[in-house]
Amino acid sequence: MTVYLNGEFLPESEAKISVLDRGFLFGDGVYEVVPVFGGRLFRLEQHLDRLDRSLSAIRIDPPLDRAGWTRMLEDLVARNPGDDRSVYLQVTRGVARRDHAFPPDVPPTVFAMVSPIKAPDPALFAQGVSALTVPDTRWNRCDIKAITLLANILARQQAVEAGAAEAILVRGGFATEGAASNLFVVADGVIVTPPKDTSLLPGITRDLVVELAHKHGLPVMESAIPEASLRDAEEIWLTSSTKEILPVTRLDERAVGEGRPGPVWRRMFDLYQDYKRKLRTG
Ligand code: PMP
Repeated sequence: MTVYLNGEFLPESEAKISVLDRGFLFGDGVYEVVPVFGGRLFRLEQHLDRLDRSLSAIRIDPPLDRAGWTRMLEDLVARNPGDDRSVYLQVTRGVARRDHAFPPDVPPTVFAMVSPIKAPDPALFAQGVSALTVPDTRWNRCDIKAITLLANILARQQAVEAGAAEAILVRGGFATEGAASNLFVVADGVIVTPPKDTSLLPGITRDLVVELAHKHGLPVMESAIPEASLRDAEEIWLTSSTKEILPVTRLDERAVGEGRPGPVWRRMFDLYQDYKRKLRTG
């Protein structure tokens, strides 16, 4: 595997980072995950917009401009051929003696690598997945795609140990998102997802699902989801760049709706696959 580190492409085994890197010592950095379908970076502009917002929120000057990111990512993808893949891109505040305050004049560390996307098990679309509700113990800037993911990791691990695929986080009586995914429910035939605020990550897949619903005339609403309405939902979905749109058919060991992936999920899943296909051939 060829990775990118600070301006160079090199074998993964040769890519080395200082133990003083602030990503290592403090989790002081941000990241992106961009899927690659049919050899093309999917929704790249939206991912780079979000990267800019994350960098600006933690006050790191962008180490590359739009053309520079695009060139580097396309080059990295070309050097790592394969089927569907994703690019992981991370920027940290760089290497300096350990001190909480920002070090002056230190260049950020920029790292990127390509990973395969595992094709989903067809059984998963026939049966859906289980999810577990978990209290959201994260900080108040969940809109920043920070590499500091301890609370997400603990939530996901709790879900996995309960035999579930994902944790759905609950904060102040409202379900906000998954440990690494955004949340949708279908209630009275209407697709509902929480509005974008500091309690959740503005997912690129989430935005595309909302966009596709508008475009194809499916009723959709951005509105907070009380935990109780999660339990009455006809359908629950989780979205992310690598998992796309996952139907949740069991929540806290109880069936969601009829306990099978629902008709609105099926329609949205097909619209999403059509959109991907058109980009591939278009
Ligand atoms: N929320 C969180 C906390 C995430 O980590 C992710 C995946 N990175 C998402 C939502 C989904 O975002 P996207 O659709 O951009 O992958």
